[in-house]
Amino acid sequence: MTVTTITPSAPKVGIVSLGCPKALVDSERIITRLRAEGYQIAPDYAGADLVLVNTCGFLDSARDESLEAIGEAIEANGKVIVTGCLGAEPDVIERAHPKVLAITGPHQYEDVMAAVHTHLTPPHNPHLDLVPEAGLRLTPRHYAYLKISEGCNNRCSFCIIPKLRGDLASRPIHHVLTEAEQLVRAGVKELLVISQDTSAYGLDVGYKPETWRGTEYQTRFLDLAKGLGSLGVWTRMHYVYPYPHVDQVIPLMAEGLITPYLDIPFQHASANVLKAMKRPAKQDRVLERIQQWRRDVPELAIRSTFIVGFPGETEEDFEILLDFVREAKIDRAGCFKYENVAHADSRTLPGHVDEAVKEERWHRFMQVQAEVSAARAEAQIGSVQDVIIDGAGDEAGIMIGRTKADAPEVDAVVYLENAMHLKPGDIVPVEIDGADDYDLYGRPA
Ligand code: SF4
Repeated sequence: MTVTTITPSAPKVGIVSLGCPKALVDSERIITRLRAEGYQIAPDYAGADLVLVNTCGFLDSARDESLEAIGEAIEANGKVIVTGCLGAEPDVIERAHPKVLAITGPHQYEDVMAAVHTHLTPPHNPHLDLVPEAGLRLTPRHYAYLKISEGCNNRCSFCIIPKLRGDLASRPIHHVLTEAEQLVRAGVKELLVISQDTSAYGLDVGYKPETWRGTEYQTRFLDLAKGLGSLGVWTRMHYVYPYPHVDQVIPLMAEGLITPYLDIPFQHASANVLKAMKRPAKQDRVLERIQQWRRDVPELAIRSTFIVGFPGETEEDFEILLDFVREAKIDRAGCFKYENVAHADSRTLPGHVDEAVKEERWHRFMQVQAEVSAARAEAQIGSVQDVIIDGAGDEAGIMIGRTKADAPEVDAVVYLENAMHLKPGDIVPVEIDGADDYDLYGRPA
């Protein structure tokens, strides 16, 4: 939970934020609205007049975690409003926790605020100027998530996000660029672009042109990258599908406008499994294209997520996946064992894989990926890299930072000696003098 204070008499709302960065952005928007209306954000259950739980409903494990958090909040505080992805299934929540005061779905900000107003009277004189221009954020001050759209037009068989969040709805590009500019003005040094399908940005609005700072920008991935690139901070593109037009963003990385980092959720590499998964964007020539991207931008880092043990995955399919990770040199990867998510179409597919086989494949995957990651890390020894400082490490005298190849919270870090004089958000050249499978070690150059 986040701690902030306005006035001692303001009604206090506690926030529990679960789930992915997209849910975190929703929580930040709700907090900004609450603060704008004069509510105080409580640091703990006991100090709150009401608790808002922003839930995740993607995997069964996340649903369980959400239900558990709701139960904990009811027990500790008693007055609980639920929002977020699991809120799209009110019957599940009501069955488990009949005492919940109100339930709203994902990104229904107006409904959340209405529910808060009903159960906790808003203060009389809202001081709009209490809210900083760039809103309130749950991430550290030096980086911020920038959500460009909601929902998704794809229908991957293992995924229930379109059922929970609906079809793609892109934010107008001038709104996104203005928000990014405000964040940068408020001290943000690194923007993390998120959505369900970043490269499809603008498809739903026919790539509508808008004007920002006197220049016309189409609501599309390439123009978004150009606009963000003009702000002079690190910009990372997350959830990019390898549609052909992604190639056009690579020159912006070569010019240093966009951070040479792509988060592409490949999920698999075998054509049979991808077909069963109903994944968007063809895998044909992906390997060739990645190789070309690397020739154009040698420092490019690729992050991805994969699912092992998908229904119908054979040993041969799995070997294809391992070869892909090796050949494409997937620098950073998250790997999940297939889970039978409630309401997902993949539940009814034939050939479900044994849990023991999933487990064994997961370990083999992690081993291969660690080798790729270790080779990259070792190759950095002796180089000088720009590193953004995140803060002090657990060990005395050690600061923690990241190179451009690493996103916060999910990727590797750099452990820094002789750097205690630096502060979060500083970007400094660092001489890399050591590495393990994932992380780097160094000192300011
Ligand atoms: S692209 Fe597929 S996995 Fe991603 S949100 Fe859309 S349907 Fe789900």
